[in-house]
Amino acid sequence: MRILRFVVLALIFPVFYSASAQQYPTYTELFVNDFAELLPAEDEDRIRGKLVELREKKGIEFTVVTIHSMSDFGHSADIEPFATGLFNHWGVGNAERNDGVMMLIAVDDRRMRIEVGSGYGASKNVPMGNIIDTIITPRFKKDDFVGGIEHGVDAVIKDITGSWPGEYDANVAQKIGGTLKRLLDWVGNWIYALLAPVAALAVRALRRWQRNKPRLCPSDGSQMTRLNEEWDDKHLQKGEITEERLKSVDYDVWVCGKCDHVTVEGYKSWFSPYGACRSCGYRTVEGDTTILQSATTSSTGLKRIDYHCHNCGDRWSATRTIPKKSSSSSSSGSSFGGGSSSGGGASGSW
Ligand SMILES: [Zn+2]
Ligand SMILES: [Zn+2]
Repeated sequence: MRILRFVVLALIFPVFYSASAQQYPTYTELFVNDFAELLPAEDEDRIRGKLVELREKKGIEFTVVTIHSMSDFGHSADIEPFATGLFNHWGVGNAERNDGVMMLIAVDDRRMRIEVGSGYGASKNVPMGNIIDTIITPRFKKDDFVGGIEHGVDAVIKDITGSWPGEYDANVAQKIGGTLKRLLDWVGNWIYALLAPVAALAVRALRRWQRNKPRLCPSDGSQMTRLNEEWDDKHLQKGEITEERLKSVDYDVWVCGKCDHVTVEGYKSWFSPYGACRSCGYRTVEGDTTILQSATTSSTGLKRIDYHCHNCGDRWSATRTIPKKSSSSSSSGSSFGGGSSSGGGASGSW
């Protein structure tokens, strides 16, 4: 009886297991995941080099995956839904362009598929089918997996970029375009380098002229005189004096010789570290930043800023999010770009 129950469970359980537990392999790198071990190390390195170059030069993620059988991952139907599911599970290709490519080989199932990102639409279905039928599966039939995969990778790269691996720079039009662009950049940089200081000097001269030009009294129209700094202070508010001391605002005081009219003009310093106070409004606030948690490429950080006002003495604190570090070294990143496929590509068997 006990044995019978065991046999029944053993018969039923795998059925439930394979029907419910669709899984996908976890990738160990972005370029070649040879789970079925079809590629000797030297050949794998050579193929990986082409895929790394494609990603660095063209920004296109193309990944080669070999598995023994789809049933190892609880899948027992056509290769198309499995390939699309795996492509999207990994997120192959740039997330905006959806230009990723996946070559999937299930060697024991004698099935393969080249799945392309949704950015290609259906435009690659026929070319990928031709590559599979004329270049890849004829070699697979002779158990030449290295040759089939490598020539297939070359042909796919040629189809999507117009260049064979290693020959991206051989395109004459691109080369001329690149040289022209560098020349224009160079000329543009020189013009900018020569004109920017001239423009900055002109702006400063204009500001100085505006600040120094004679003022007329609004009451009687007679010429006003500007007081020097020592005379300033009795005409300024306490907050303005603090601003002057901190050099966050520079004040000019103009007085009329005939009447008592006084005009005070403030000039904000461009590069002052002092901000405006929430209580008194003067630019007399200093902030000290404490990092509570550093930002990484995958998570934002947190900082606390302790403010205090040199004029009114107010103190307060605020916490701010620190943006994620940008992963500028995306070509050496270790995760896919988040692209998706809507089922484009082609399949084959041998
Ligand atoms: Zn006056
Ligand atoms: Zn204040």
